Amino acid sequence: MRDPRYDILFTPLAIGPVTAKNRFYQVPHCNGGGYRDPSAAAAMRGVKAEGGWGVIFTEQCEIHHTSEITPFIELRLWEDQDIPAIARMAEKMKSHGALAGIQLAYSGVNGPNFYTREVPLAVSALPIRTFTNDPVQARALTKSDIRDLRRWFVNAARRSKAAGFDLICLYGAHGFGIFQHFLSRATNQRSDEYGGSLENRSRFAREVVADLRDAVGDTMGLTMRVSLDETIGELGFSNAELRDFIEMNGDLPDMWDLAHGTWEDCSGPSRFKEEAAQEVLVRGIRALTSRPVVGVGRFTSPDVMVRMLKSGTLDAIGCARPSIADPFLPKKIEEARPEDIRECIGCNICITGDMTHGISRCTQNPTFMEEWRKGWHPEQMNAKGQSERVLVVGAGPAGLEATRALAERGYDVALAEAGNALGGRVARERMLPGLSAWGRVADYRAYQIGQKPNVEVYFDSRLDAAGIVDFGFQHVCIATGAHWRRDGVSRQHVVPFPIDPAMPLFTPDDLMAGLRPSGRVVIYDDDHYYMGGVLAELLRREGHEVTIVTPSAYLSDWTVNTLEQHAIHRRLAGMGVEIVLNRGVTAIGRGEVTTNCTYTGAPSPIGCDAVVMVASRSPEDALYRDLLAREAEWADAGILSVKLIGDAEAPGPIAWATYAGHRYARELDGAELGDALPFRREVTELAPE
Ligand code: ADP
Ligand code: SF4
Repeated sequence: MRDPRYDILFTPLAIGPVTAKNRFYQVPHCNGGGYRDPSAAAAMRGVKAEGGWGVIFTEQCEIHHTSEITPFIELRLWEDQDIPAIARMAEKMKSHGALAGIQLAYSGVNGPNFYTREVPLAVSALPIRTFTNDPVQARALTKSDIRDLRRWFVNAARRSKAAGFDLICLYGAHGFGIFQHFLSRATNQRSDEYGGSLENRSRFAREVVADLRDAVGDTMGLTMRVSLDETIGELGFSNAELRDFIEMNGDLPDMWDLAHGTWEDCSGPSRFKEEAAQEVLVRGIRALTSRPVVGVGRFTSPDVMVRMLKSGTLDAIGCARPSIADPFLPKKIEEARPEDIRECIGCNICITGDMTHGISRCTQNPTFMEEWRKGWHPEQMNAKGQSERVLVVGAGPAGLEATRALAERGYDVALAEAGNALGGRVARERMLPGLSAWGRVADYRAYQIGQKPNVEVYFDSRLDAAGIVDFGFQHVCIATGAHWRRDGVSRQHVVPFPIDPAMPLFTPDDLMAGLRPSGRVVIYDDDHYYMGGVLAELLRREGHEVTIVTPSAYLSDWTVNTLEQHAIHRRLAGMGVEIVLNRGVTAIGRGEVTTNCTYTGAPSPIGCDAVVMVASRSPEDALYRDLLAREAEWADAGILSVKLIGDAEAPGPIAWATYAGHRYARELDGAELGDALPFRREVTELAPE
C-alpha cells in the first residue's frame, strides 16, 4: 500500500466539532454550473468524495438576494426553496466519508445585482468592482443593515445545516467576500466602529462568527477564507496586516483558510505561478493561531504536500485545480500509485467555464462536469463494444486521449504518428516560455499508454489513405491536428490580404520548429489567446525588437478568462515589447506593415524586417477527405467507420482536443443518438401560472 512518507497526509484533522479523515482539502471552486446545473455540480463533487478527499467544499453560495453576481453562475441560498439543490450536493460530498463544506458569500462591492435589481450594499459607498466596470454603485451599509446582514448569515447557516453540511467557510478573499471588504482600508472607509483601526475592521468578522457559533456551532465547523495579500498598494489589506489580524483574532474560526487577495494572484496560471507559489505569504502564520491552517498552491506533488505539513506551514493541503484535473489524487497516493496522478497543467481553462458562463472544462480531465450530464467517470470507462481494432492517426492531445481511453475500454489500438514524439502541438508548445507544465498533457497519457499491452505506437508513420485502406482496421480515428495559417485569415480578414513575398514571414509553427527572424519584428495577433503574447516574449528574450499589433483593445484578450491578461501585458510591457492595441494590419509590404485603426480605419505604417503571423489555424484534414473519397473501398477493407476529431476537425484550445479524444473513445460502438440531445440537463420547473 502507500509509501509511509505520505502517512502524514492521511492523518485526521479536527475542525471545531467535526473531524476530517485526512489532509486533502478541496477548497471552494467555481464550475460554471452552479444553480443552473445543480445535479451536474453535485455529481462532480461526489466523484471527488469517491476519489478520497477529506473535505469538499461548494463554490461560493450567495446568501441573500441583496447581493448577487450575475452573470456569474454560482450557488444561491436565498430562501428555503434553494435547500434541496444544495442538499443534493452535500449528500454527494458525504457519500464516501468526506466532510461537506459550503462557502457563504455576501459579495458587497462585487455584486452588481443585475438579476434582483436590489441596490447593492457594501461596506463603503463605492462603484461596483467587477471584471466589466459595471455602471452601478453600492450604498454603504447602515448600522441597521449590518444587523440585518448578520441575521442573513445566520439564516444561511441554518439552511446550510438543514441541507446537511458539516462546515461553513466565510468568504473574505480574492476581493470577492464582504469580510475582506471590511478588513481592507481600500473598501472600508467607514468612520464608525466598523472602520478605522484593524480592531474595528475586524469587528464584523468577529460578530458573524459569534452569531454562527450560537446558531450552528454545536455541530458545524467554521472556517474563514481570508486574503493573504491584496497586492493593491498602501490602502490594501497586506500580508503584514493579515498577520496582525490573525494574531489579534487567532481563535476566531475553527480553521483559517488562506488565499490570495485577488483571484488572478491566487489562481495564477503556471505561466506565471509555480506550484506552492503562496508559500512565503503563508509561512509563519500557523504560529500565530491555535487553529489549523489550510492554503493552496496548485499542489500536485505528494512530496511538496508532505513538506507543507512537516514544515509546519499548513495543516491541510488546499486544492481546487489539482482536484479538478484529478479527483482521485488522494486515492492514487493512498494506493501507492502517484505516477497515475493526472497533474493539473495550470492552464486555467477550468476558470474560463465560470468566466464565460458556459460550463467548466478541464484540459487534463475531460470528464469534469460531465459526470452527471454524460455519466462519464474520470477513472472508469464504459465496457468495450462489439468491435476490436482501432487505428488512431496522430498523437496530439486528441489522438493520445482517444488511444488511452480506447485502450482502457479494452480495444486493440494502433497509434500512428508522423513525427517521432508523442504530444503533437503540446510537444512543441511546451518548449515556449512559461508553458513547460503543459507537457503534462502528453506525459500523463504517454505513461498510461505505455502501461497498456493493447496499444502499439508507430512513430515516423505519416499515413495516407491508401495505406489505411490496406491496413484494414475496423475503425479509423483521424486526429491529425492543424497548422497556423500564413495568409492572415482570421477575424479581421476573412479572405487573404496583400502580402509582399519580399517580407520574411513566420507562423507560430515556423518559430516552434526553430526558425528565427532577424531584425525588428512585428507580430500581428488576430488570434487573441496566448500564442501571440508568448511568441512576443520568446523573441524579446532572444534580443529582438518586438512590436505586437492587435485589433483588440487588449493584448491576448481572451486570456481575461484564464485570469492572466493583466500579467501578460505587465510582463511584455516590462520586457520592452511595444504593444499596439486597436490596430489591425491591412498590408504587408517590403520593409513595413500598414496598420489601420480599428475604429476609424486610419492607416499608419510600422517599419520592420520580419512579420510573425498569429492568425487562425487550418485543419489538417486532407487525409480524412481522401478517405471519404474512397468510401466505396471501406467495406472490402473491413473499415466500419472513419471519424475526424480534435484540431483536425475544428481547431481550438487543447482542452477541446482531449475532450474530443475522450468522447470518441466513449462513443465508439455506441447507439446512434440521432437528433437526441447527447447529455442530460435540468430545466427550470414551471410554476403554476
Ligand atoms: P490535436 O490537438 O487535435 O490532438 P495536434 O496538432 O496536437 O492535434 O496533433 C496532431 C498530430 O498528428 C501531430 O503530432 C502530427 O504529427 C500528426 N499527424 C498529422 N498528419 C498525420 C498523418 N497523416 N499520419 C500520422 N500522423 C499525422
Ligand atoms: Fe488544471 Fe487546466 Fe484542468 Fe484547470 S483546466 S484543472 S488549470 S489542467
